[in-house]
Amino acid sequence: MAALNSANSEADTSAHNHPIVGDRVIEGDGTSLDAWQNWQDLHNLSRLNIAESMLPHQRVCVFAPHPDDEILGCGGLLQQLAANGNPMVLVHVTNGTQSHPNSQIYPPEQLDSIRPQESQSALQVLGVAQQVTTIALELSDGNVFAQRSQFNEKLAAIIQPDDILVTPFRHDGHPDHEATGQVVAAFAKQYQLPCYQVLIWAWHWAKPADSRIPWHNATRLDLTAEQVQRKTQAIACFKSQITVDESTGNPPVLSAQTIARISQPWEVYLYE
Ligand SMILES: [Zn+2]
Repeated sequence: MAALNSANSEADTSAHNHPIVGDRVIEGDGTSLDAWQNWQDLHNLSRLNIAESMLPHQRVCVFAPHPDDEILGCGGLLQQLAANGNPMVLVHVTNGTQSHPNSQIYPPEQLDSIRPQESQSALQVLGVAQQVTTIALELSDGNVFAQRSQFNEKLAAIIQPDDILVTPFRHDGHPDHEATGQVVAAFAKQYQLPCYQVLIWAWHWAKPADSRIPWHNATRLDLTAEQVQRKTQAIACFKSQITVDESTGNPPVLSAQTIARISQPWEVYLYE
């Protein structure tokens, strides 16, 4: 989800070492879970029905800027697609090697294998591993904006004419999420493919009814209690992201509040 040491020119770094894009600032605890739960319009959004919107023969390609975004954003969707019979491709845009600057425990060369392994464990826990093919694009973590043309070329080699694309929201707030959203959404538009943009970091920086999110395009996927439980268990597979780094004393990359906020019985997708 987070790459903390962004080196690209379009992102700044805050006092808390979180990357900033435009006015979408990821700092502190973010918007509370209560605030989202109490926002009535969230409960009134149109519902995404997988069986109606995604025919079983259609392949669904889910883009994760970092290994864990596929579960945080789409852990419910992946389960429902598996039940619906859709083949799935998980594309790790980067391997998330920059999540622990200066760490003795999680140096980049270790994270390069640890984080994809955590993702595979999470897919097993979700019960979808058999239907998911994972592809690693191996772009540099924290620097996806600068590699957009390379990203686009790789997309052309992967995407097929009948695919459905799923990506983070192109204004999700984290530079790699925004770069991924922009590249994938533009590709989908060019080839007239369905494209769903999921909210991930937006839950942190946005407020209910926030005008920076096109809520009129939002559709909500409801998760059953069992699906939420599996998603929660899958998130627990990302040990590198949920534990304190003893070598630096840094808190977990994913705070308890972030995990609680993303583990609700809904996922929200923007469909333009
Ligand atoms: Zn991410």
